[in-house]
Amino acid sequence: MSTHRIHRDGRTLTVSVGMIEVTTMGPDYEPDPLWSHIDRSGHTHMWVGGKLPTLVQRHRDWIDDDGDSRSDSWRECIECGEEVAPGYVVRAGYMAGARNFVPGLRSYELDGVPVSEEEAQRFIATLTPGTITIDEIGS
Ligand SMILES: [Zn+2]
Repeated sequence: MSTHRIHRDGRTLTVSVGMIEVTTMGPDYEPDPLWSHIDRSGHTHMWVGGKLPTLVQRHRDWIDDDGDSRSDSWRECIECGEEVAPGYVVRAGYMAGARNFVPGLRSYELDGVPVSEEEAQRFIATLTPGTITIDEIGS
């Protein structure tokens, strides 16, 4: 939660922004420039400029035994149809356990009373620089 208090003429507008944690479930991957693979028919596969020109992406939606919809995707050799799993490496700069946040819902209080965004905007519209003070409460 990030909170700002804006004071003007004895009134206080409190703006709270809920922060939503974006959890990276695992490392972020990118194409492995060193990966190459020769399938059983002798076709060579590798990343070329971030693309896999010798493979085609396949996709299948299906319903499991519990009735949940699932989807699978995989890549196949364009020529012989053999399934090939391309090589990836952990993206440079990935940090294990890093927590990222994105702004979520905003809420507003005027003098401690919850107000709508429109009311808050009207209050903000009356503000002129130099007449207000802002406290950042932080998280
Ligand atoms: Zn092939």
